[in-house]
Amino acid sequence: MSDTLALHGGAPVRATQLPFHRPSLGPEEEAEVLDTLRSGWLTTGPKTKRFEADFAGYIGAPHAIAVNSCTAGLHLALAALGVGPGDEVVTTPMTFAASANVVVHVGATPVFADCLPGTLTIDPKEIGRRITPRTKALLVVHYIGIPCAMDEIVALAAAHRLPVIEDAAHAIETVYRGRKVGRLGRVAAFSFYATKNLTTGEGGMVTTEDPDLADRIRILSLHGISRDAWKRYTSEGYRHYEILEAGYKYNLSDLQSCLGIHQLRKLDGFWAQRQALVAAYDAGLADLPELRPVPQAAAAGNRNAHHLYPVLVQHERLKTDRDGVMTALQAENIGLGVHFRAVHLSPFYTRKFGTRRGQCPVAEDASDRLISLPFFPAMTREDVASVLEAVRKVVRYYRR
Ligand SMILES: *Cc1c(COP(=O)(O)O)cnc(C)c1O
Repeated sequence: MSDTLALHGGAPVRATQLPFHRPSLGPEEEAEVLDTLRSGWLTTGPKTKRFEADFAGYIGAPHAIAVNSCTAGLHLALAALGVGPGDEVVTTPMTFAASANVVVHVGATPVFADCLPGTLTIDPKEIGRRITPRTKALLVVHYIGIPCAMDEIVALAAAHRLPVIEDAAHAIETVYRGRKVGRLGRVAAFSFYATKNLTTGEGGMVTTEDPDLADRIRILSLHGISRDAWKRYTSEGYRHYEILEAGYKYNLSDLQSCLGIHQLRKLDGFWAQRQALVAAYDAGLADLPELRPVPQAAAAGNRNAHHLYPVLVQHERLKTDRDGVMTALQAENIGLGVHFRAVHLSPFYTRKFGTRRGQCPVAEDASDRLISLPFFPAMTREDVASVLEAVRKVVRYYRR
């Protein structure tokens, strides 16, 4: 095997590209979609009702509302809680754009609190330092499926009478101190985007234990009208709907729910496959101080969802930086991602809210180091071995 980097004309470690993610969809999903296509009912209807009931059962939440994205779910949560102009929402910079953007969508100001070193979940002490009389909610993210320090966060929220919104986009399978994610705050939003642990292509779900909040979110999710369109044509006779609020168009279609119903049944099997991948990567990287994995061993009573496998590039030990390592690995035909670059450093937030480097040092440091390696249930031992071989080849070349 050539030591010359593919970047410099050498043979790549892999002849073909290993994608960063590939969804696991099977004949069950295909048959369910075909059934819906032939039924003539494509939009929100019986399949979505079933998916909601199944999902509520999985989380153990009394209410689950299917929506067309996690972003929509987070937006609805903020809107239904009455967060608006003049309000502040404390959130983490170590997240996807959506978690902060939805705060802007309701006219409020995101306030970024730094993360804990290690898990990169939001630091409760940093939240405490950023609560003001204008704070209206806390929006926390279970980063890569590691639960946030929810006992501390919920206690802080209770002391200030603030609702906690869980961004559980990475965290369907997560358990915190024996309790399921999705029931740890006032309301939670899940993502079924193509790369997430359960996929419907695009989609999401909101869970809450609060019946009034659930009602408000359901109404807001479909134009603010008083009942689901599909219920209008029942034996009860024609029932008019009423517009109660200027709601949104955030419903999930039956075509998408078909995937969700079967993905949910396979969820714990996929989780076990990803857990084995974490163990394989951890073992393979143990003697490589140049790339340190985000530790994913669960604390007592917890279960981590293992959504991604991020490593932190120790550039002090290398003659290149994170981007240099990524460029070289991509040339070896290894698909990669970055989860995440700190949101408060992106141009929109620095310009609009004056956020800047220095405000969240832990997140900023990670922001410059993170690379997510290929990680999906169908990855083979050979796939993992090829990633490790490419990583070693690149690190050997750049090592100081
Ligand atoms: C993917 C993601 C979202 C958005 O999910 P969509 O379903 O694509 O809207 C929100 N938050 C986090 C942390 C995510 O990773």
